[in-house]
Amino acid sequence: MALNLVMLGPPAAGKGTQAKTIAREYRIPHISTGDMLREAVQAGTPIGLAAKALMEAGKLVSDDVMIGVVRERLDRPDTREGFVLDGFPRTVAQATALDGLMGPRAPLVVVEVVVPAEVLVARACGRRTCRDCGTITTDANASCPTCGGALLQRRDDCEEVVRERLRVYERDTRPLVDYYRRRPTFQPVDGNQPPDAVATAIRHAVETALETAATAGRRV
Ligand code: AMP
Repeated sequence: MALNLVMLGPPAAGKGTQAKTIAREYRIPHISTGDMLREAVQAGTPIGLAAKALMEAGKLVSDDVMIGVVRERLDRPDTREGFVLDGFPRTVAQATALDGLMGPRAPLVVVEVVVPAEVLVARACGRRTCRDCGTITTDANASCPTCGGALLQRRDDCEEVVRERLRVYERDTRPLVDYYRRRPTFQPVDGNQPPDAVATAIRHAVETALETAATAGRRV
């Protein structure tokens, strides 16, 4: 069965790192709407120009724009065997639209990465991304632990903007936990442990969700 995975969780919960790992393991694309927007900002496209100030302030880009971006991306043939969505949906309107886009595809598996708020601010403010290979690290390294490239801090990873992003998460994205909670393919995972342990927990959660979906499918 295809794996259509949504990684849900607050900023700096480790979603991006974990999403990349699971996408590699299942050989499906990692779709990060934050990365897509940052590329659009770099390229100076109309979407990038519209998103830049909102991103720097920790606010959300409009549902219409984001739903359009994701619809186009999920239309591409490389998502046929599944995908890992990282950073989408972020509102109930986006979640409803995503359900509409799924149509006859396999069901969504939703993993919520749970991390206490006080841990998140410290993590986000210490987070650096490698300019060359994209590795994300919170170690106080001068260079990337993977390839030795230069480490950069995201403009929205300073304390004031992180706190705003957490407020936005609580207001707009936390309601998605209730939106998805009753589905048999929803799985919470403890994100407040070392990355390898989180990865193991996510793998287990995904396998459990896929088995549940397959069993439910056989009953229909
Ligand atoms: P992320 O890399 O997922 O933390 O996203 C960085 C920023 O991009 C967010 O703070 C938002 O400004 C914007 N963004 C990314 N994904 C979405 C989305 N699904 N809906 C609205 N804004 C988004």
